[in-house]
Amino acid sequence: MTCPLCDAELDRSTLLEAEAGGRSLRGFRCPRDHGTFLPADLYFAWREHYEPADPPAEAVPSSDEVGDVKRAKLCPQDQHIMSRYRVRPEGGFWLDRCATCGGVWFDGEEWDATVEAGLLNRLPALLTDAWQRQADREVAHDGYEDRLRDRLGEDLDRVDGFRAWAWQHPQRHLIFSRLRERPDEPQETAD
Ligand SMILES: [Zn+2]
Ligand SMILES: [Zn+2]
Repeated sequence: MTCPLCDAELDRSTLLEAEAGGRSLRGFRCPRDHGTFLPADLYFAWREHYEPADPPAEAVPSSDEVGDVKRAKLCPQDQHIMSRYRVRPEGGFWLDRCATCGGVWFDGEEWDATVEAGLLNRLPALLTDAWQRQADREVAHDGYEDRLRDRLGEDLDRVDGFRAWAWQHPQRHLIFSRLRERPDEPQETAD
């Protein structure tokens, strides 16, 4: 299994130590700290034995699915494109889920955000809710396109042209990984 961001082989790890009466939660982590992959079978094995210490809050936060391909990652388990979700009301908090195997990817800090918000045991409710809200999803998607266009202008066409080329490239992981690296030399500004 490889990291969807850097292609490194993911390490098997214990994501949460067992609490009394429960069992530990196992998953996979990028050795370069890009994030955490939680396969559905390991998640449900853990959740079966999960007893929340506090009664669960009534409301499950909502989430939007934002675009099937925009900023999409490939599932470490089966290489299918993952759907990206924005979790509300905790703004700036994202999850990627594979519809094929049910695995969830958490970027670096998203894992801690999920655990701290007490959402780990409620992932299915959170993600299923989003899955079903097609209309909201499309609205969110349109808004996203508009915001990108406002901020990038014609540069967006350049980016999209490159993106279309990169996504059909057999070594796209290497391309995306390279793009995330900061260039060694600061760019000269031509006068
Ligand atoms: Zn990585
Ligand atoms: Zn998958």
